[in-house]
Amino acid sequence: MSRQLIVAGNWKMNTNLKEGIKLAKGVSKKTKPSDPLVIMAAPATHLHAVAEVVKDIPGIQVAAQNCSQELSGAYTGEISVGMIKAIGAKYVILGHSERRQYFKEGNALLAKKVKTVLDNSLLPIFCCGEPLAVRKAGNHARHVSKQLREGLFHLSKKDFAKVVIAYEPIWAIGTGVTASPEQAQEMHDKIRKMIVRKYGDKIADNTTILYGGSVKPANAKVLFSQPDVDGGLVGGASLKADDFVKIIKAR
Ligand code: PEP
Repeated sequence: MSRQLIVAGNWKMNTNLKEGIKLAKGVSKKTKPSDPLVIMAAPATHLHAVAEVVKDIPGIQVAAQNCSQELSGAYTGEISVGMIKAIGAKYVILGHSERRQYFKEGNALLAKKVKTVLDNSLLPIFCCGEPLAVRKAGNHARHVSKQLREGLFHLSKKDFAKVVIAYEPIWAIGTGVTASPEQAQEMHDKIRKMIVRKYGDKIADNTTILYGGSVKPANAKVLFSQPDVDGGLVGGASLKADDFVKIIKAR
């Protein structure tokens, strides 16, 4: 797949069903085919309804925020790729730092989830990024490299070509502290070079790498205009239709 400009909204555990539908409708009304691809990662309970809202709009897709690595069975509380696919969602966010931190999802588990998603014709948005202490110690590139090597680089070229990567420095998520455009570009460039070494120039050049971490209407344009930043994964600002639409239209 080729490199694509994407603005994805991660609603996390926010909105009830009615609010979620209103938000999806508010965003849908204002997007145009010429905008970047819009992805809405709604809570699992809203996925079907949100997918119905956007089903005839080609530039908008729906994502789950997580899935099980298992296909079915006695896994109380889990959601399978089959369930996600059946309601019309196309993407699954995997490895968000909140899943890594609060639910102890490590690279080995994420490697299995990524494979399950791809084997079942869904597309992963794979999150990576370092905590503040790692950034301060200057080890951020090494940290992200390990996340990619252990979580993604087991994939075949054909499968890897379908992956969207989201670089989300943990110190910037939900904190209001955004990475500077230079910091974002530097890491995105390093990530692309890691992909070159593993999969070659063509695949690396075609990989979509999103930036996430306090993206707002006021900073989206400068972040998205960096040569290796192909859009954003947006948390807080995706919960207000007007703000999210401004971010979608930022570049
Ligand atoms: C996120 O959760 O992926 C995120 C980037 O959140 P925020 O935009 O609120 O920092």
